Amino acid sequence: MAFKQFGSKRDFAPREMVKGDWKCSECGTPITELPFQPAPDRPIYCRECWQKKRRERFSR
Ligand SMILES: [Zn+2]
Repeated sequence: MAFKQFGSKRDFAPREMVKGDWKCSECGTPITELPFQPAPDRPIYCRECWQKKRRERFSR
């Protein structure tokens, strides 16, 4: 019975790939898929830059 609450209206379902046409704000690599819906007013990073950013955050 608890299953009904999962994944019906929320578009934050895990592993749902969003297709589109973006560019990495850092290195300019074309991005065609994202694991989330990107906000239009936020920078988008490719995997490599994303991981770099994460690392930078963690090291401080
Ligand atoms: Zn990049």
